[in-house]
Amino acid sequence: MSDRTFSREWLTRRHVTAPFMSRVVVHSEKLHQDDDVSLHQVVIYDEGRYWSVVFQESELGLGHLDPWFDQDLVKAVEVYPVYRVVSDWKEVEDGAPAPLCRPLDVNGRNSLVCHEQAEWVMAYRYNGEARVTELCSEHLYTSLNRNGNALDIREVKHR
Ligand SMILES: [Zn+2]
Repeated sequence: MSDRTFSREWLTRRHVTAPFMSRVVVHSEKLHQDDDVSLHQVVIYDEGRYWSVVFQESELGLGHLDPWFDQDLVKAVEVYPVYRVVSDWKEVEDGAPAPLCRPLDVNGRNSLVCHEQAEWVMAYRYNGEARVTELCSEHLYTSLNRNGNALDIREVKHR
């Protein structure tokens, strides 16, 4: 585990306490809430690594609570993404056929269409660009287990 600190100015300039406005926040989650205060975990992407910080927010709408606990240097812990499969639920008798699988080549491009139906949808980033592809189970497995690839996988969903 490695630690670093971010300055309050760095975090403020990048809108880290407003994750939907921030370009560096890749994940945010409410950790805890009571009547007065909520605690939020935010994951920041910076120079190829991911860092977790926690800030607090007033639930009273008063705006006098310092998000960074009155610290000028905010401690961050290095984290890494663990991919999990999530399910979408569709109506039975949805008439639309699933598309054929479009697996990726080593450069993150759709290389060929395989004969299997694509059960999985994978969102990923390649060269800073957000992309989505559809994969059969076998190609999903090889995509997730490819070592040393350049794919930055963000989400996997079952169709
Ligand atoms: Zn396939």
